[in-house]
Amino acid sequence: MIVNYQIFYDFAYELAELAYSLDEVPVGAVIINDKTHEVISSSHNQMKSNNSSIDHAEILALRLAMFRLGNERLNGCSIISTLEPCPMCAQAISFARLSNLIFSAEDPKSGGVIHGPKIFESSSCHHKPKVIRVDDDDKSKNLLQKFFKSKRKKG
Ligand SMILES: [Zn+2]
Repeated sequence: MIVNYQIFYDFAYELAELAYSLDEVPVGAVIINDKTHEVISSSHNQMKSNNSSIDHAEILALRLAMFRLGNERLNGCSIISTLEPCPMCAQAISFARLSNLIFSAEDPKSGGVIHGPKIFESSSCHHKPKVIRVDDDDKSKNLLQKFFKSKRKKG
């Protein structure tokens, strides 16, 4: 059965909006079990709140999912993100053996999946998830642009 990721994407977008309201880079991520459609974990960017430059939405969702399932592998699970994962998150998604990566906005500057180092195409990448794109009419992209514009104004 083909999973309709839209509803999970909408949830991820809500988390991005939450991040925005907390003055964090607005990115949200949700991890689901592809068979049961159960949400295993979800998170948003928390770099500022946690004083941690590695606390991206995807990393936090991955940690929580592995903890909850008591397994360092997340086979049969998918991660839905509002932004193309950066190289660190793309590598972590590969390490965790996720089956699918679903995302909407592209990140030409800092992305690591279809831009930059294209982690999944690297010879050191031993697990490549299926990459699926969600068309959100640039909702995530616009939210990110609004965020960075407001940052620039504040200087
Ligand atoms: Zn990242």
